[in-house]
Amino acid sequence: MKQNFAIIGLGRFGGSLCETLIESGQEVLAIDRDEDRINEYMNIATHAVVANAQDEMTLRSLGLRNFEHVIVAIGEDIQASILVTLMAKEMGVPNVTAKAQDSYHAKVLYKIGADNVVHPERDMGIKVAHNLVSKNILDYLELSDEYSLAEVKVTNRKFFDKSLAQLDFRQRFGLNVVAIRREGHLIISPMADEIVFKDDCLLLIGADEDVERLDEKMS
Ligand code: ATP
Repeated sequence: MKQNFAIIGLGRFGGSLCETLIESGQEVLAIDRDEDRINEYMNIATHAVVANAQDEMTLRSLGLRNFEHVIVAIGEDIQASILVTLMAKEMGVPNVTAKAQDSYHAKVLYKIGADNVVHPERDMGIKVAHNLVSKNILDYLELSDEYSLAEVKVTNRKFFDKSLAQLDFRQRFGLNVVAIRREGHLIISPMADEIVFKDDCLLLIGADEDVERLDEKMS
């Protein structure tokens, strides 16, 4: 049977990922070549092992191919990050997520088969910038260079107490409303007759420029 998660590299990103997965009840194998890091996570991760992940025999002996998800959270050593991602894919791990330092690194990671590439510093920078310039955009997730998933708060009275059909975000802004967050609960795939109220948060998918247009109209 497949096991849950293996995290390679326990820097700030890999470390906080490990803690959060454990808190949510997942099993995590943590691997780092630095003994001090492993000692820190000994009592947190399900298993914590000192190992150099660039060594294929070591990865095989740890049974990496039996994991459903492997997260390569090695940052600075780009060569190691690429090699370990490649080996994990070659061993048949179905989901490999790798952390990229920059867009060139990300391109290579995708090319060699990473299923998912994350840029924590860049993504957080984008989120913080959007939060700083707009009080309506609460959250922002870049889906590609042009498209995003944005959470926009309904603060303009022109949008209050109207149905999604009346507001027609698709026609007017080219945006699709995938969910509405209201008083702590989420209405997924809302119907056209769903009414939008003051302070609802709309989760929309669309082009960045269209999200910005809606944000301007909301202000
Ligand atoms: P963060 O931003 O998440 O703190 P970082 O981008 O600075 O991390 P590094 O500190 O270079 O990344 O690497 C993260 C961790 O990965 C470190 O704890 C390091 O010891 C570990 N690591 C690096 N290379 C290997 C390797 N070949 N095998 C196992 N662990 C490794």
